[in-house]
Amino acid sequence: MKERIIGIDLGTTNSLVSCIKDGRVEVIVNERGARLTPSVVSFSQDGQAIVGEIARNQAVLNNDVTIVNCKRKMGSDHQFMIRGRHFSAIEVSALILRKLKVSAAQRLGRSVDRAVITVPAHFNEKQRHHTIKAAEMAEIEVVRLLNEPTAAAIAYGLYHNKQAHLLVIDIGGGTTDITLMNFKNGLFTVKGTSGSSRLGGVDLDMAVVDWLGENFKQEHGIQLKDDPIAHQQLIIQAEQAKIDLSQTDMVEVFIPFISGTADGPLHLRQALSRKKLEELNNSFFDRLTQLITATIDDYELDPAWVTDVVFVGGVTRMPRIKQIVQAVIPDRVMWNDLNPDEAPVLGAGALAGKFSGQNENFFIFKDMTANELGIEDHYGKFVSLINRGTIYPVSATRLFTTTMDNQPDITIHLLQKTGDGEIVSLGSFSMTDLPPRPAGELPVDVTINITESGLIKVTALNLEDGNEQFITERVDQPWDNEGYARRGSGLEVV
Ligand code: AMP
Repeated sequence: MKERIIGIDLGTTNSLVSCIKDGRVEVIVNERGARLTPSVVSFSQDGQAIVGEIARNQAVLNNDVTIVNCKRKMGSDHQFMIRGRHFSAIEVSALILRKLKVSAAQRLGRSVDRAVITVPAHFNEKQRHHTIKAAEMAEIEVVRLLNEPTAAAIAYGLYHNKQAHLLVIDIGGGTTDITLMNFKNGLFTVKGTSGSSRLGGVDLDMAVVDWLGENFKQEHGIQLKDDPIAHQQLIIQAEQAKIDLSQTDMVEVFIPFISGTADGPLHLRQALSRKKLEELNNSFFDRLTQLITATIDDYELDPAWVTDVVFVGGVTRMPRIKQIVQAVIPDRVMWNDLNPDEAPVLGAGALAGKFSGQNENFFIFKDMTANELGIEDHYGKFVSLINRGTIYPVSATRLFTTTMDNQPDITIHLLQKTGDGEIVSLGSFSMTDLPPRPAGELPVDVTINITESGLIKVTALNLEDGNEQFITERVDQPWDNEGYARRGSGLEVV
């Protein structure tokens, strides 16, 4: 029997699982028969984790023991506090992944131990690493991390077997990715990518929450934000209103007994039009337009280069999103036949099927780095090794040397430069016990290697020995986030 490898889309709001069945990739429904499992974790009185719909449905009442939008904290040191216990985003993601694994195994009637997991294209090294750690905790071996837009493009390719220049617009609960991709004869090549980890559906919801809260305050003098249960109800209803307004022009938000005074209970009742929702979120739409045009410009492409637009993530169901794209790229094909919630997981499942030998479809893909990578020199300067927009897997080497006489050690400090020019420390390691040499006379080759999953390995090689004395130190967890340019690295470019 062939091994089953599943595809997993670990979303900010919802997660999905897929696999190949009878040669076709299919979404695996959970034990409730639902295709989407909310990425929500809650804890029972006795400390048991509850994941999915039950956790989400009880989020209002159990607000203090419920964790939502955990993906937004991946890669950070944030700790969720539940009844005095700390949970990292890795641990919370592991709980979600374990639930998906168990549920898929039940459906498939066999254990599931390996997966292709999708991640946002702009996820940095730490966020990717944390995703793998979460999977390990859930006893899932990650066969490959796959960028979400690339996964969606693969799904598109399964249905539209033609040549195309794709613009993939992926707006999830917390993040936005814009990707330009060439698709020809089964080969997907990313031509350009950028995104924001601070732009997503949750921001649209919060604009509505603030507006509803402000109206309520003006009418009743009560700040709903101060009451966690009322606030949670507002968030849920604001999201529901946003979703409904993708289909209809007007909704009524009604939350009975949301608050009260000595005179009795107070209810929230407020009409919200699609026009008003869009107006409240003008800055969101402006930012999105800017991201799309900047990505096309950055990679020296023309809007007319795009032939097809693929939408990913529930937010792209908003009519306004389509209007924005049409304004930037008039008269292009907007594909609506792929379910925007399911496209990434279908692509992940297709790749999983390829790995397990169950998918004969021919496709290969070439992904591209969303950030520039380099190391810190002795003067605190960023020395570039791999440019943003480089196809990976890739390996790049630069020759460095010491800066002081008889220098005992050097520090290899890996840095990432984002599209906005921000420099982020990804981690460091030291090479110690160097042989005593005058300044500038100990040659060291530093190599950055990016794997197919977008993971980084850094190697430092003392060329003087010519052997493997100081070779390959993998920058591994834990990442020490000591901040950029905290001290000289003892290295300079030759
Ligand atoms: P994710 O699960 O991370 O892909 O994100 C789902 C996001 O899409 C959430 O913010 C949802 O509120 C949003 N969403 C889902 N369906 C719709 C819809 N029909 N219209 C607008 N937003 C939607």
